[in-house]
Amino acid sequence: LFTHVPAYPGDPILSLMESFQRDARPEKVSLSIGLYFDEAGRLPVLDSVRQAAQFLAANVEPCGYLPMEGLATYRQLVQNLVFGAGHEAVRAGRIATVQTPGGSGALKVGADFIKRYFPQAEVWISDPTWDNHLAIFEGAGFRTHGYPYYDASSGTLCFDRMLETIRGLPSGSVVLLHASCHNPTGLDLSRQQWGALIPVIVERGLIPFVDMAYQGFGDGLDEDAWAVRALVDAGAQAFVANSFSKNFSLYGERVGSLSVVCTDPATADNVLGQLKATVRRNYSSPPAQGARLVQHVLQSPELAASWDADLADMRARIKDMRARLHQALHAHFGERRDFGFLLSQRGMFSYTGLTEAQVDGLREQHGVYLVKSGRMCMSGLSRDNVQYVADAIITILEE
Ligand code: PMP
Repeated sequence: LFTHVPAYPGDPILSLMESFQRDARPEKVSLSIGLYFDEAGRLPVLDSVRQAAQFLAANVEPCGYLPMEGLATYRQLVQNLVFGAGHEAVRAGRIATVQTPGGSGALKVGADFIKRYFPQAEVWISDPTWDNHLAIFEGAGFRTHGYPYYDASSGTLCFDRMLETIRGLPSGSVVLLHASCHNPTGLDLSRQQWGALIPVIVERGLIPFVDMAYQGFGDGLDEDAWAVRALVDAGAQAFVANSFSKNFSLYGERVGSLSVVCTDPATADNVLGQLKATVRRNYSSPPAQGARLVQHVLQSPELAASWDADLADMRARIKDMRARLHQALHAHFGERRDFGFLLSQRGMFSYTGLTEAQVDGLREQHGVYLVKSGRMCMSGLSRDNVQYVADAIITILEE
């Protein structure tokens, strides 16, 4: 029956993780998968989350189905976090928000909804991007295209070409944008560049779909959501996927949400209804525990402050690792090679410009694992291993 079913080649990043686990060298360093690790190389359990989990464990409730759209309080708290408490669109009730299984679930629900109501639309995504963006939108039946984003020869954002391409799209095209901490390049638009892009999106009648998987990992919770709010302030109707996988270190709970900003509350009600129908057709209703944990933290001013402080520590640690790696490389290369990109890129990832052969060399000769595109996950670095990684990079580059 299943002889025509081909083997699954596996997800390249997850397969790399498996090879890493099998690697017996004690000095090995994983800089591939997009997880935040602490200084000791562990996934953190945030104190606010631990307290929320203890509260929930002490107050166990029957586990019925959640509504298709998820927990009402959670959805409200998400709107405050993403758009800003008191934002006009939040107060007006013109945003439809559904709780989803992670950011991936939000992208999938959004993609299915758009396919149903804008069946002719095609989707434009930054080149490069997180691979699953292509898989999710193509899986929902869309043709996808890349818009220029990263110029490999200079290692910089090619904003002019990006803007030019987006300006030429047919109205009703979907444009996927990363809110901040772009995966995989670590290069974000400046506020001035957003200021040039947003009017084009609005005037051309494009459908912006903002993916915000790293809120708080760049410059802060509000700072990282700046572009989302600027879009809404400019009158855009927009899709926003957000994830709590990274910023709450709750990867396995699958907690995130999709918000659709509409022009008025009546439209938002209809959109919410059809988002519920989309959820029903996909997985019926979202999981409960992750959203209860996030809700418990965000509802309590003390726990929310503790979360914000932990997030600031994670952010500071990543920046410190960027600085240490830069310093170690600069000490060796001086003006011969510029590693300034390590300092200017934001969030968990850095596009290093290393070639596939150099990435292979790092892994085979030194046990340092990067993704083959040259993407490095900065949170795999620690004070203990950063010099080792720098030396490995130096050896490979000087070969
Ligand atoms: N978008 C981007 C850009 C991501 O990097 C990720 C996670 N790697 C996601 C969405 C999905 O996050 P989640 O694990 O919450 O599904």
